[in-house]
Formats: sequence, C-alpha cells, structure tokens
Amino acid sequence: MPQVLVPTVCPYCGAGCQFFISVEKERATGIEYMPEHPASEGALCSKGNASLEVLYHQDRLRYPLKKTGDGWARISWHEAQELIVRGLGGALKKFGPERVGFLSSSKCTNEENYLIEKLARCLGSKNIDNCARLCHAPSVVGLNRTLGAAGMTNPIPDLANSKCVFIIGSNLAENHAILSRWINRAKDEGAVVIVADPRMTHTAWMADIFLQLKPGTDVALLNGLAHVIIKEGLIDKDYIAKLTRGYDELVEAVKDYSPEKVSEITGVPADDIIRAARAYAISPTSAILYSMGITQHCTGTDNVQAIANLALISGNLGKPGSGVMPLRGQNNVQGACDMGALAEFYPGYKKADDPETARFFSAGWGRGSLPVGRGLTATEMIDAAGKGDIKAMYIVGEDPMNSDPSSNHTHDALEKLDFLVVQDIFMTATAQMADVVLPAAVWAEKEGTYTSTERRVQWSRKAVSPPGEARSDLEIVCDVANHLGLDFDYPDAAAVLAEINRLVPQYGGITRERLDGMGLIWPCPDKDHPGTPILHSLGFKLQDGRASIMPVQYRAAAENASWDYPFILTTGRVAVHHNAGSMTRRSPSLIEREPELFVEINTNDAARLKIADGDEVLVTSLRGETSARARLTDKVKKGVVFMPFHFSGTNKLTTEVTDPEARIPEFKVSACKISWRD
Ligand code: SF4
Repeated sequence: MPQVLVPTVCPYCGAGCQFFISVEKERATGIEYMPEHPASEGALCSKGNASLEVLYHQDRLRYPLKKTGDGWARISWHEAQELIVRGLGGALKKFGPERVGFLSSSKCTNEENYLIEKLARCLGSKNIDNCARLCHAPSVVGLNRTLGAAGMTNPIPDLANSKCVFIIGSNLAENHAILSRWINRAKDEGAVVIVADPRMTHTAWMADIFLQLKPGTDVALLNGLAHVIIKEGLIDKDYIAKLTRGYDELVEAVKDYSPEKVSEITGVPADDIIRAARAYAISPTSAILYSMGITQHCTGTDNVQAIANLALISGNLGKPGSGVMPLRGQNNVQGACDMGALAEFYPGYKKADDPETARFFSAGWGRGSLPVGRGLTATEMIDAAGKGDIKAMYIVGEDPMNSDPSSNHTHDALEKLDFLVVQDIFMTATAQMADVVLPAAVWAEKEGTYTSTERRVQWSRKAVSPPGEARSDLEIVCDVANHLGLDFDYPDAAAVLAEINRLVPQYGGITRERLDGMGLIWPCPDKDHPGTPILHSLGFKLQDGRASIMPVQYRAAAENASWDYPFILTTGRVAVHHNAGSMTRRSPSLIEREPELFVEINTNDAARLKIADGDEVLVTSLRGETSARARLTDKVKKGVVFMPFHFSGTNKLTTEVTDPEARIPEFKVSACKISWRD
C-alpha cells in the first residue's frame, strides 16, 4: 500500500503549526514538514516532532471501564451509557441541573467543544467551563472589556514587521517556540526586544532590555511604563483622541508610579524602566506578547488591562507590527472559548446572563428553554463539589488533579461526588477518581477544526483509526446526549461546523469547503469574507467605536514570603513538556530529556541551606508538600524558586486564591519552604 500524507494540526501549543502524518498500511509512520504553513514555515519544536509517540503508547485507553471494588473492569459502550444515564441522568433528576458540572477540553476540536457546551446547556446546566479558566480567562475578561475582542490582535508572522517586541510573562522560546523565529527576524531588521519575567528564561536571552521583576508586581511595572510614556510626552495624541476613552483617568491613576517607586516594588532598576518605556513608545510599531506569567495571578485581569492601556496610549493597535498578543497555551484553548465552553459565554461570546442569548440559542437549537446566567467556573465547580453542592461531573480531556491548584483539595472534592465520568486518552490522575472512564481518540484519529492563538481556524484530518474501541469525542458526546434524551444527530464534524457557521457570527464564513488549505482567521462573517488577520484596524466594537482605557492600581499578591515559608514559588513550563504532562510524560524522547520534577533555587539560597545541585529536597507550602530535584541556578533571584507544573507534585503547593473577576488561580505566587528530604 503506498504512503499517504495526511495534513494535521499539532496537538500541543496554540501556535497551530501544521505538518503531514505519513500513513502506511493504516499506521502512522512518520512526520513530513509543511514549509508553506504561514506561521511555522515547516518548522516544528521538540513536542511537535514527538507528537506521534503517544499514538501507539501502551497506556492508551482502549475500552470503556467501570470502577469495581478492587480496580477497573472492562465494560461495553452500552453498559457505559447505562451507567451514565443512571449516574449523570440520575443526578440531574434528583438534584437538578445546577448541581451537575461539565468540563470541556481545549484539546478537543471546535465541533466537540461546541457539542459539549450544548449538551450541558440543553440539559439545563450553566456549569460548563474549560481549562482557559486556568490560563487565559483574564484575557477574555480584560480584553473584551478594553478592546471589545479577546483574541490575539495580529497574526504570528506579522511579528517580523515589529520594531519593538515587548514580551511579558511568557517564556515563548520554550513554550511557543515557533514564535522565536519571527521575533529573531524582527531583531535582524533592527527591532528592540524587551522581556519582563521573574526568571532569566530562554526568552530573556533574546532581550535587549531584560526586566527581572519580583513575581506578582506586573501592574506596578506596567503602570510605571505608562507613567514614563505620559510624562515624557511619548503618547499618540491623535489615536487617543479619536479611538479611546478614559485617558485622563489613566494620567491620574499612574501619576504616583515614578520609576524610582516602581523600582522599589518590582526590583527592576529605574533606568531600565525608563529605557523600556521609551523603546516601546518611540518605536513606530510595537507589539506586546504575554502569556500565563501575566494571567495566572489574583490580579490577572488587572495585568491584562494594564497591557491594553499601554498599547492604547501609544497607538499600537490596528496596524501591522503592533498589537496585543495573548499567547494561548493549549492547541484549541482559543476555539474552546469561541465555542462557548465558558461559564460566562454561550458560543461567539454571547453573554450567558443576557436573556436574549438564551432566546437566540433556544431558537437555533430548537430547544424550549435554556439556562440564563453565569455558571460555576472550573475551579468553582471543584470547590462546590467539596462542599457537596455539585453532585456529578462529566469531565472531557481535562485533568484537574494535576492542573488545578492545591491538588489535595481537588482530590478531596472529587472524592465527594456521587458520580464522575471522565473521557480521555490515558488513565489520568482525574480518571483514576472516576466511576466510569470513556476511551477517546487523539487528534490524529479524528477530524475537525482547531483555532490557533492567532485566531486561525484550521481543519485537521483523520490519519489513522483509534485503538480498541476508543471513539472520537464527537461520537461519544452525541451518544451520551442521545441516551440522556436529547437529539444530537451529527454524522460528522462538518455537520457540526455547518451549525456553527449559522450560529457563531465570527465563524459565519469559515465553512468546511474553505478549509482545505491554511485555514481562515476569524472574524470571517460570510463565505466571501477573506478573514481578519489584524483586529481593530477600523476601530473597536465598543461604544462609539472607541476602546476603553481602564486604569488599575497595583495590589500585592495574596501570599508573601514569611518566616515559616520564606520563598516565593513561581511555576511555568519547560520546552519538552506540555501542561499537565499526560502526553509528553508518555513520549519517550521527551521524558528522557526532562524525566522528573525539579526546583530551581538561587545558588546563594542553596549555599545557605547547604543544598547541592541534584539533591532531592522537600518543598512545602500551607497546602501540601512534594519532593523535587534541586537545580542550583542564577536564573531565579534570591528568595524565588521555580518549578514546572508538568509533574504531579507542583500543584500540591499552589494557592487556591483566584482573581476576583476571571476566577483564575494565582499559580504564579505561592509561599513555600525548602528542606532536606529525610
Ligand atoms: Fe506544536 Fe507549538 Fe511546537 Fe508548533 S510550537 S510544533 S504548535 S508545540
């Protein structure tokens, strides 16, 4: 049988790189690169290159399972559905839909996310969310409020047109590696690169100006930059007058953020704050990129608004080489949000608390009535389960046991559920807690669309069949819906996309027929529309077409170092692993390079504690403890330690405190102590 090349979208980060899977005798045998792809130009990072390693892994779930007294028993799909009708359907009847929760997956396609949120809402539950709650919920809240849209404003290749690239809270050189190519291209043309991060990351090595701030002081730094720009008259007066509101309030709000005062708060030298502000504001085109170093704070929404303020006062929106670029972590976290797998929004960011939204989808879906109002977020559902207020959950492709803060708290909460069904590709720590586990197909075993961080909607094809009796999430969700009395009659992803085209205005023209190439960038309202690579070039979709400058004040992080817990733990990613690690920890070539949990400790702190490089140490916070291998380094400053969150121990330590608006946990600042492992 000849070799066939099947185009596919990388299952890891939101950069959306495409490549070909070579298939021989119905088996994936290798990767071929795709040089014509606009964002990746044929390149892949280590994760993309290793992505096929999970396909035939021995740990793949192959059959539905039910928990027995002493382990797991293989069951038929029929029995699994009966158990779900009894468990989930029973909870809906007995306790009401408000006490049942659904977690959708940013690893699933748009069509699958759309169906999962539709399932939840058609069953009457408002409690639907996805892991964007743990990464970019503040972008959704903060950018919708200030700019009227939460997506990345400019496409990835446009970075090459930038004359100043300001990266804050993002280690993109490791986590969105493909973007480095475009930034280096801008640098070759003379662009200034500014990086702000508590850690000297691989990304920081690209910087002309590196601002090593204390964890949790981003608002102070961003307000300090705004202060300098305003004081030195580097603002774009015309842009402010024509396209914004709220400038005078910002002038008042940042007047006390002198470089000297900001230096005291952030630890960044005052001269560097001034240099960075001038470089950003004087450059004809400046782009700001950020990621979870900005969002995963109890001030995440404030951080995002402070970023938008900088772009607005310097007129750096709506034109090539500029913009605000929130880098989405998971391959389809943008799409999961677009599809309404969020507590606050139905598909297309229609507000869940607006009765007109429910009426619109009630008519579109042919349902009598749909719930109105904001549901519980992902972390609120876990809290509610712990209190006995949520009784049953359906979790698709998420692993809260590893990805949520304070894992012991998550464990106790999930244990209290009357019924838990988990649908995944591996037996994750969360699946271990389930009553029923459903085996799902991985990306290469199904078809559908994914929306990358640059809002590019791309069709990914099925290359091979799933193992055993595993099925696509789309098939499973339709089957669950139909067993629970709904009528989900979708033969394939294209049929779901056709409904999305009808009901989600941003996707109106993104039809299956138009997706055989490099995709389309939303908003794309009709089938003749070319897509919109640059947002806001014609003003803003807010009152009078103007953006809102929304001043914010610096608030300290929820936890500070203390006598008992003298270090600040900040968390993040490393190049060869991804998120909760369920896939990368099972990739032989990746786990070999980074096999275990480590903690980076400043060399001076380590010397004081008499810890040597490679020692196994105990890291303890108020919420739990974990062992980790000590890595001595000057990448982190004294008093700060760093741990990657791809291994199960890290989130035993992190705090459950959340941003009051976006409800994202403050993963980036937790007090801890380091001691010897007995
Ligand atoms: Fe995959 Fe992201 Fe790496 Fe591209 S940069 S290959 S999308 S993980």
